[in-house]
Amino acid sequence: MRAAVFPAPEACEIVARDVPTPAEGQVLVRVEACGVCGTDAHIYRGAFPARFPLVAGHEFAGVVEQTGPAVSHLHPGDHVAIDPNICCGTCRPCRRGLTHLCRSLSAIGVTQDGGFATHCLVPAQQAHNLPLPLPFPVAAMAEPVACCLHGIDLAAIRAGDVVALIGAGAIGLILLQLVLLQGPAAAIVSELTPEKRAAAERLGATRTVAPLTEDLRSILEDATEGSGADVLIECVGSPETAQQAVDLAGEGGRVLLFGVAPQEAAISVSPYQIYRREIAITGSFTNPFTHSRAVALLASGRLQVDDLISHRLPLDEVPRGIELLESRRATKVIIEPQRPG
Ligand SMILES: [Zn+2]
Ligand SMILES: [Zn+2]
Repeated sequence: MRAAVFPAPEACEIVARDVPTPAEGQVLVRVEACGVCGTDAHIYRGAFPARFPLVAGHEFAGVVEQTGPAVSHLHPGDHVAIDPNICCGTCRPCRRGLTHLCRSLSAIGVTQDGGFATHCLVPAQQAHNLPLPLPFPVAAMAEPVACCLHGIDLAAIRAGDVVALIGAGAIGLILLQLVLLQGPAAAIVSELTPEKRAAAERLGATRTVAPLTEDLRSILEDATEGSGADVLIECVGSPETAQQAVDLAGEGGRVLLFGVAPQEAAISVSPYQIYRREIAITGSFTNPFTHSRAVALLASGRLQVDDLISHRLPLDEVPRGIELLESRRATKVIIEPQRPG
């Protein structure tokens, strides 16, 4: 097998290894498609706690090649999408149903070898059968879709709400589609890049806003008799846009901070305004029990994720995929490890 190994931050080597044999409870997956995520870029730059040397890549789908002892629900030849997040099951958050907030959370592609390789060993319970022969790059999107579903659940959008999304990268464009499935009165998308605004319009945004030349506040006020948005979803991860999201919430508004801000970032909130206008601010972390819904949604054809995939690259181009993502020239980069480099 071949793997793209990060021996340390800022380095990537293609390494030949023996194909591993699955142990009890594991399956060996032939990786057909693995998405490049902002987290992979942060790991590569040394800005995310990961175990080095590491085969990164946590958004992947492929074919079961071999099953270990005591695996009964999967068989060689099955097509699967992987939920990378593994909880301990015994800590306090886990015992309270908050398995995604596990104190010793591990993740395939972060703390153990992941999908930037031709093959990957996976605990069988993390592999979800694909109900249809979905294209593998689409199935690889199950992980980000699952994370977005958790966010949408927390945003609790009601039919008729005016929803604003800040940022229309791959995540923003998935969230936009999930918002539209909730029946909002309007879904207004603020995004710097004209191409991404055009993508948001193709996917059904009520209107898009160019934040450098248009005023999101007055557009939201016009749509809400002066209130502000009923739901704001921030999917950029900058303190400026997080502040904007909090500031633009209407009475009873709900703010979902979905983008990953720098750990040291801070914004200001007025406790009085939170109290008086009943503003709810929530975060959303990973994909608790949403992976199978994500697979079902992708199989239903109700989400357009094909359109979001801007680049498909072979395994030796993992660093280029990360650079494309960082340069914002790519919407979604998919690595196809079986492709000759
Ligand atoms: Zn990811
Ligand atoms: Zn735990």
